[in-house]
Amino acid sequence: METTLAPRYANTPEGLTAQEILRRCVHCGFCTATCPTYQILGDERDGPRGRIYLIKQLAEGVEVTRETQTHLDRCLTCRNCETTCPSGVEYGKLVDIGREWIEARIARPAGQRWIRQALKAGLTSTWFGPAMRLGQLVRGLLPGVLRAKVPAYRAPGVIPVRAHSRRVILLKGCVQPAMIPAIDAATRRVLDALEIESVVHPESGCCGAIRHHLADADGGLVDARRNIDAWWPDVIAGRIEAIVVNASGCGVMIKDYGHLLAHDPAYAERAQRISALAKDPIELLESLTPELKDRIGEAGRGERVAFHPPCTLQHGQKIKGAVERLLTALGATLVPVADSHLCCGSAGTYSVLQPALSGELKQRKLSALSHHQPAMILSANIGCITHLQSGTEIPVRHWLEWLDERLGVRQA
Ligand code: SF4
Ligand code: SF4
Repeated sequence: METTLAPRYANTPEGLTAQEILRRCVHCGFCTATCPTYQILGDERDGPRGRIYLIKQLAEGVEVTRETQTHLDRCLTCRNCETTCPSGVEYGKLVDIGREWIEARIARPAGQRWIRQALKAGLTSTWFGPAMRLGQLVRGLLPGVLRAKVPAYRAPGVIPVRAHSRRVILLKGCVQPAMIPAIDAATRRVLDALEIESVVHPESGCCGAIRHHLADADGGLVDARRNIDAWWPDVIAGRIEAIVVNASGCGVMIKDYGHLLAHDPAYAERAQRISALAKDPIELLESLTPELKDRIGEAGRGERVAFHPPCTLQHGQKIKGAVERLLTALGATLVPVADSHLCCGSAGTYSVLQPALSGELKQRKLSALSHHQPAMILSANIGCITHLQSGTEIPVRHWLEWLDERLGVRQA
């Protein structure tokens, strides 16, 4: 689609990027069929092709209203449409730009402004951890709607302290260590069992995705620069071989630092190097499958599990089938799951901002995941794990927690 940029966007990095992405779209509509919000709402403007057209209008300076903002808000940024698109349209980058533009042009109602601000500040603040712990202590007394956002506490167990010649950085993150600290602990024990040391830099933190996807690109970049500064001494000294990110939503963000900071002369080169080092745990562990098989033996054999591949893993990072292959090689029986390409409705802060759509997608996903009665549901992203767990009695875990338990290295 040819787009003539409005003067305010012409010759800006965002304008030129948007123009380039829009040029690739041939308006064929293949993407519409696999869009979860289009499937539910059936409105062209709630599918990728319609949203792309709305962003084209924004780019050209056409007058837009709250209605356009609402259609962009309803998008999950699941990027399923990118996987479907035969023309390589980078929809995720385009919608981020469109959201920034409309945020600057359309004032939100006060209530929305307040909740978005509270999410941006609250989820990444230092008091989120203590507040979550308090919520977990009184979880049984909380009203249902709040209880759904507070996962039951699981003790993390012992953190390994052995030094190894293989060394990686583990992202400190923000909500994950507060909500389910057991995930990081399990990750570190699995790595340790494979003689890989993991270090967490206390001065690092949120990957920036929370602010970035709430149309606060500058806030997201502040987080990115802080993490790069924290990790850089280890990187230039050659002390680490990878930055392991065990929440796929954060992984996709860090892999994008190179793109997001490409126009910052002070950080562009470093950001590219950091992005190249970022790895989902499966990218490190898949090649160690034989060793893991030896270590696990019969511990996981025949266990019926359902795997939910987060959108940020399959559509964002384009990692498909790798965790499933590893689990199968280790003896688990993976039950079939219909429509595994579709989003579960978690999508970062989406479940708070769009509860009706998010709830509908959760029900559909849980019905597909539980259809063949698995003993456990496994996934690879904190958001999906807590969101799904709030709707089912079947235990929902990170696949590294499953592996940690089967390796038998977990200690109370
Ligand atoms: S984004 Fe891709 S699949 Fe969708 S309408 Fe454009 S070219 Fe077609
Ligand atoms: S990112 Fe997901 S919800 Fe948004 S338009 Fe694409 S497929 Fe639809």
